[in-house]
Amino acid sequence: MPDIIQLLPDSIANQIAAGEVVQRPASAVKELMENSIDAGAKNIKLIIKEAGKTLLQVIDDGIGMSETDARMSLERHATSKIRKAEDLFELYTMGFRGEALASIAAVAQVELKTRPADQELGTCIVVEGSDIKKQEPVACEKGTSISVKNLFYNIPARRNFLKSNPVELKHIIDEFQRLALAHPEITFSFIQNDEQVYDLPATKLSQRVVNLFGKSYKEQLATCQEETETVKVTGYVGKPDFARKTRGEQFLFVNRRFIRSNYLNHAVMNAFEGLIAENSFPFYVLFIEIDPKHIDVNVHPTKTEIKFDDERAVYAVVRAAVRQAIGSHNLTPAIDFNA
Ligand code: ADP
Ligand code: MG
Repeated sequence: MPDIIQLLPDSIANQIAAGEVVQRPASAVKELMENSIDAGAKNIKLIIKEAGKTLLQVIDDGIGMSETDARMSLERHATSKIRKAEDLFELYTMGFRGEALASIAAVAQVELKTRPADQELGTCIVVEGSDIKKQEPVACEKGTSISVKNLFYNIPARRNFLKSNPVELKHIIDEFQRLALAHPEITFSFIQNDEQVYDLPATKLSQRVVNLFGKSYKEQLATCQEETETVKVTGYVGKPDFARKTRGEQFLFVNRRFIRSNYLNHAVMNAFEGLIAENSFPFYVLFIEIDPKHIDVNVHPTKTEIKFDDERAVYAVVRAAVRQAIGSHNLTPAIDFNA
């Protein structure tokens, strides 16, 4: 029998990987903004057109990249964030898989402009479906600007699968809000179709919450603060009366990474038991800090699921933090009109 196995060309391998990393414009927004955060940016600007379908661009004033790094950044499994397997257990960056830029560049028309502070000229690279079309020196601001045009232009099935603009925009806003909440010390701006959606000055968390969600939140936040030897929980929960009938404003971060966890959500809900009506949901934005060696974030390419060594201990601290916060406001139970 003849040998039939072949290595896939990079462009195809990247396209396949892109299927996991980049599901929709919002996933590209998340990856690009996380890179800006990892690059130490103080200012991050997001510009989109047509819910990111025709254009999404992230501009930052972070460390930028050398010419060689700019080219390397587009390769798969190319990263500056880890070097050896053990580094996976000491992660302080959002990224580490080295897949995002390669994946995005495989399924879109990408223009990358970047300049480190100590260089006079930056580098501009244009890449389309993993093909480098142009690379040249360019005069540009310090930092990095990446524009992604016509996402999935070369995968019609994927492009057709995208939802309506309002739905895709909602996904982008969700990602933007999560990152803006996790990094109140960074100035963010968000422009869609030439209109300013958000303009968020660097501030502290409580003010960031108000800037994102509205003045009505100001009087509604109860402070959470609880720690053990291994876990620290900080942040805010909305007071019980402020609970809503709809879900959607529950934010949980582990080492500043937004995560989903039914288990830890339960810890919060449990702390609210008896204080809010059934089927209503409290606002919360909670930060769990834990030594990265006690967690595994490499469960899923989008990294929104993580594993804890000792999930029950984390549950207990989260519950205690919330209990303490709402207890300290000396609250009477909410009236359940359905009861
Ligand atoms: P990862 O973030 O997992 O390392 P990416 O594909 O997202 O992988 O990025 C590859 C590399 O490109 C990063 O490790 C980083 O060195 C560099 N890079 C990407 N975006 C930026 C940026 N905005 N500023 C500076 N460097 C960047
Ligand atoms: Mg990245």
